[in-house]
Amino acid sequence: MYLDSHAHLEEQHFGSEVDAVLGRAREAGLAVVLAIGNGSRKSGGHREAQRLAARYDFVFATVGVHPHEAQESDARFLEELADLARSDARIVAWGEIGLDYHYDFSPRETQRAVFADQLKMARELDLPVVIHSREAEEDTLTLLRPWAREKPWGVLHCFTGSRRLAEEGLAMGLAISFSGILTFPKAGDLREIAGAVPSDRILVESDCPYLAPVPHRGRRNEPAWVVSTFEKLAEIRGDAPAELQKQLLGNFSTLFNVNIDCLGR
Ligand SMILES: [Zn+2]
Ligand SMILES: [Zn+2]
Repeated sequence: MYLDSHAHLEEQHFGSEVDAVLGRAREAGLAVVLAIGNGSRKSGGHREAQRLAARYDFVFATVGVHPHEAQESDARFLEELADLARSDARIVAWGEIGLDYHYDFSPRETQRAVFADQLKMARELDLPVVIHSREAEEDTLTLLRPWAREKPWGVLHCFTGSRRLAEEGLAMGLAISFSGILTFPKAGDLREIAGAVPSDRILVESDCPYLAPVPHRGRRNEPAWVVSTFEKLAEIRGDAPAELQKQLLGNFSTLFNVNIDCLGR
């Protein structure tokens, strides 16, 4: 029983193949997939994730504005997303939100403002957050700090940051999710961090269609392949796979407040 804590399953990535892709995820033994519903009025990605979560009992959804699209967002749109989240129990998190200073698709100041607004909104809704941070560690930490609490309240997704980001994130009550990058030959530092994260704070994800793990590297990624990332994580940590599976599913269930035992698996 595996899980995928972060998948982009929109039509722009998978076309009409999404049912086949989710079928393969089931066959591979995935018990749960979190479909990221990043939206703007133009893209409507949040609606697609929501529809998938309605169709598949092992898929849950998020809503949120990605830093890339921060400049297309406004208070009214965030309110629309909040209404969706309030009205649909299959929307279990707010995200992905954060800062991306690598691409800078939206002005940094706008990214920070939209990130801060969404952190506030998620807390008002009592939803955990899925956080994206690329080449923006200082500002990410500064914006997250006021929301720190003991109970798990978010995840640093596709973690590729420094040891300091990991340590401070953990101290703030965040979980850390690792993608296929964990299997890349040059990711020694990342593997070291993955070996040191407390077992009750760790997750894995595909981040599909990006970042396919070895041995699928370079191809369009899909949730089923998260198994390779999981196996690498078990190897790094010296954990028995069955134990680690149980632990990660428990972590997912705690963070996103979903009962995985109830899923028809
Ligand atoms: Zn991301
Ligand atoms: Zn993502």
